[in-house]
Amino acid sequence: MRVTFWGTRGSCPAIPAAWEVRGYAEGVSAATIAYVRERLQTETGLNELRELLQGTPEEIESELPISHPPIFGGETTCVEIETSEGNVIILDCGSGIRNCAAEILQRRRETKLSEISVFGTHAHLDHRNGLSFAGICFANPPFDIQVFGCSGFLKALDSRFAMFSHTVSESTYSDDPIDYTAMSASFSGVEIRALDGEEELGTGAPWQVQDIAAPIMIGSTAVRPFKSYHGSTECLGYRIEHGGKSFLFSTDHEKLSPESIGLPNLGSDEVTESLQAEQKLIEMCQGADLAYFDGQYFREEYYGHQGIGSSPAMSRVGWGHGCVEDILERVSQTGINHALIGHHDPERNWPAQMAMAEQLQKLSAGKDFQIELARDGQTVTL
Ligand SMILES: [Zn+2]
Ligand SMILES: [Zn+2]
Repeated sequence: MRVTFWGTRGSCPAIPAAWEVRGYAEGVSAATIAYVRERLQTETGLNELRELLQGTPEEIESELPISHPPIFGGETTCVEIETSEGNVIILDCGSGIRNCAAEILQRRRETKLSEISVFGTHAHLDHRNGLSFAGICFANPPFDIQVFGCSGFLKALDSRFAMFSHTVSESTYSDDPIDYTAMSASFSGVEIRALDGEEELGTGAPWQVQDIAAPIMIGSTAVRPFKSYHGSTECLGYRIEHGGKSFLFSTDHEKLSPESIGLPNLGSDEVTESLQAEQKLIEMCQGADLAYFDGQYFREEYYGHQGIGSSPAMSRVGWGHGCVEDILERVSQTGINHALIGHHDPERNWPAQMAMAEQLQKLSAGKDFQIELARDGQTVTL
């Protein structure tokens, strides 16, 4: 399977600031000038330079031995999985889904894709703010889009677009003028919840219900949902297995520590729930070839000893997000091969991310696992 990360920013899309773009361009120019100056020192270098300059600007660019620094991206959560059978599974509909959909429509010219499965994690806006900008909703011929998620996610989408109930309400147009009638796609919903062995008797909701304990099969791909801990907001993670490989997707999950008991809105029930979810996550992580985690904070920022960018130092305990240190611990416990840290804080600017990426590279050196920052547009083939 091919896993592409279309949106890895947390909470709010963040495009690079003008000074970040300038810094990037200046870095590349400085490296190019240094390269040219060095070539000019010798006859051989001069000849190499002459030969290089024969090419088109594109050829010169691709042959210049200048490495471009990585860009981590600014769209909110969206990950696409394309299986060897050609099935497409999209995880979350953050603003990254707009580019994801554009690429699917491009590819559709060569494939006969007509069905797409969308798995949502939870109702928060950053995980669904891209849907009404996604070309797959408006395509001709239309797509059948099956949406899986917890009831909060399905309810949030339905109250915005009325795509399952076909009942437009006051809340439908609260963000933009689009409802399901403007979309060509036909949508069906599947709610994932713990049925605890009970047969579902019907809830009157305009979607089917599926037990969280049973894997969902998309062709030969198994999608195994599990509960994450995201404060009072219901949230799911997924383990996707295809062709003997596995991808673990966990976002918006917080591991609370018992010391948090007594902080605003945090009692022993919350801590127990969080630690149970962490235990389940560790179980689901076992032997994963690739994993994506929410690492929005460093512990010092989480506990409020340090700010993030222009955001002051304040406690972020109970906000529902994870720490980088928790991910490192998890990876060492579970035999994950390749871990990606995402849900980047919008205040984590590019130089700070570059420094973080460097630290992670040092940490992974000589180890049998790799940990790196997730980047928008990054593809991993398993
Ligand atoms: Zn989020
Ligand atoms: Zn959230």
